[in-house]
Amino acid sequence: MQQDVEQIKNDVVTASHIVHQQNLVSAFGHVSARIPGTETFIFPPRTSPALVRLDNLLTLDTEGNQLSGTGRPNTEFWIHARIYKSRPDVQAVCHVHSPNCVALGALGETVRPMHNMAALFKDGVPAFDAITLIRSRELGDAVAKVLGRHRAMLLRGHGANVADRDIRLACMEALWLEEAAGDQLRAMAAGQPRYFTAEELEHVYGQLTTEGGVADRAWEYFTSLL
Ligand SMILES: [Zn+2]
Repeated sequence: MQQDVEQIKNDVVTASHIVHQQNLVSAFGHVSARIPGTETFIFPPRTSPALVRLDNLLTLDTEGNQLSGTGRPNTEFWIHARIYKSRPDVQAVCHVHSPNCVALGALGETVRPMHNMAALFKDGVPAFDAITLIRSRELGDAVAKVLGRHRAMLLRGHGANVADRDIRLACMEALWLEEAAGDQLRAMAAGQPRYFTAEELEHVYGQLTTEGGVADRAWEYFTSLL
């Protein structure tokens, strides 16, 4: 278990650097990972994801208590805390300020799959409508409620949250969500996009999830760019 936690900490650092390198965040935004089997999670201090290091990571719990680390946590830690509380299956959360997601949300739209990787979001991407930073337990609960059983959500005028069973997967999905939003914006600007039908979505989704290793291959690639 100890080794697992060390690996997870390494992955939190790498994922933080990837979302920064891919322009999903700049000075703000944060990536976290649950310590397996607990209601505690690894969380960065109040700094850019670009500046996250192994030696400045903190440990928090789902009630908002800081259990280890000397820095102060990013102020929106409640997003992570309350998603972990409401979703025992979730092992990692990426909170990003991805520009295409913000633009799409401002149009009253959400991600609707029209390219292959976006099929991972076939169950829908709900949107949190209130314009606010998520700096309270109550707002964290409200965000977790909108996320529900989905793997991604938009926050209008703010960004997106992605939550999944593995930190590498969640990080790649944050990238694919932003790519999907960008594709959709370009298609909408040019005309009427032809979105995947429910049948097409199921077909591609099956190909993406049964093949295995899709997120691992992407993680390997984006790690190589750091
Ligand atoms: Zn934010």
